[in-house]
Amino acid sequence: VMPNEKAKLARYGGRQTVTALPGDGIGPEMIAHVQRIFTFANVPVDFETMQLNSDLSRDEDLENAIVAIKRNGVCLKGNIETKFDDPQFKSRNMEIRRRLDLFANVLHTVSIPTVPTRHKDIDIVMIRENTEGEYSGLEHETTKGVVESLKIVTKDKMERIARFAFEYALRYDRKNVTAVHKANIQKLGDGLFLKIATNLAKNEYPEIKFQAMIVDNASMQLVSRPQQFSGGIMLMPNLYGNIISNIACGLVGGPGLVSGMNIGKHYAVFETATRNTGTSLAGQDVANPTAFIRAACDMLCYLGYYNDANLISDCLFRTLTVQRVHTADIGGKATASELVTSVLENIEKQWEKTHHH
Ligand code: ADP
Ligand code: MG
Repeated sequence: VMPNEKAKLARYGGRQTVTALPGDGIGPEMIAHVQRIFTFANVPVDFETMQLNSDLSRDEDLENAIVAIKRNGVCLKGNIETKFDDPQFKSRNMEIRRRLDLFANVLHTVSIPTVPTRHKDIDIVMIRENTEGEYSGLEHETTKGVVESLKIVTKDKMERIARFAFEYALRYDRKNVTAVHKANIQKLGDGLFLKIATNLAKNEYPEIKFQAMIVDNASMQLVSRPQQFSGGIMLMPNLYGNIISNIACGLVGGPGLVSGMNIGKHYAVFETATRNTGTSLAGQDVANPTAFIRAACDMLCYLGYYNDANLISDCLFRTLTVQRVHTADIGGKATASELVTSVLENIEKQWEKTHHH
């Protein structure tokens, strides 16, 4: 995580309050799993839980959630169902990101040994512009049967996300940046993105290897030889970033495994990478809690609680790779609760080790 020196955090008496937005589907049970781990591990974090979903929410629920995130600085979030059928209904997930100016979506897609996948040794950081482009939310039917969907891009925001990617590469020692675009067709919009990224690479970050790749080719390369991107960063505008990130998550084992950060100058929201509600799995104790636990670890890193983050993430890793506690999505039989129990057992073992030696 890019720790945010400027972030204003709600920390009193050594404890940090974070906003929890459980959302719909499996969100509430996933937040409960994280709370169980935090309590067991004595993580000094308290949750302020806000109810927000698409059915019940009135506008003031959204406003209250946003105020709460602004107050605490940080949020752990489940996904809120988006209605397809009502063109007036703006995605609340998108509204939160836009209103808090969480301009960078960052995912780390890494292969986990023992998780069955087609490809091994994937280690790619996905950095996606999170607020503009195709997600500007401006669509209208000009005359019957003719729809305009506007993709709005701005030089400032493109430069901001590109700079974020290069800075991330420097800080976390990523060996290259690949900018993904479709400048051969969208000559002005994607053309500008490509020019900005290329110039930044050349003029300000000459030590970082840079390449550009057209989004269709990038998709093909990713599913056929993903390791070529390993160790590096893929830098993407909003919609391509959404699609490419989902491909990458699929490659390392699916929606239950990967976490995603939404980072702005002042606030940060942590959720799963593919932002599913998992509604069909809710209430059955079968959804994989790994992605949420990793989101919680991302959050702890952002807050500077590195020891807690490392402890939980190491113990989760052992649960997946040593004890091989796998939920159904990755071919196993374990329930979510069993996975969490195994993480707690690993934490316990870790403590015994450090106390006795
Ligand atoms: P739905 O809401 O119908 O469950 P989503 O679009 O939210 O579908 O999720 C896409 C797919 O990913 C679904 O098949 C869902 O079951 C699966 N999925 C999402 N989250 C998880 C998870 N944590 N563990 C296992 N499968 C998941
Ligand atoms: Mg869903």
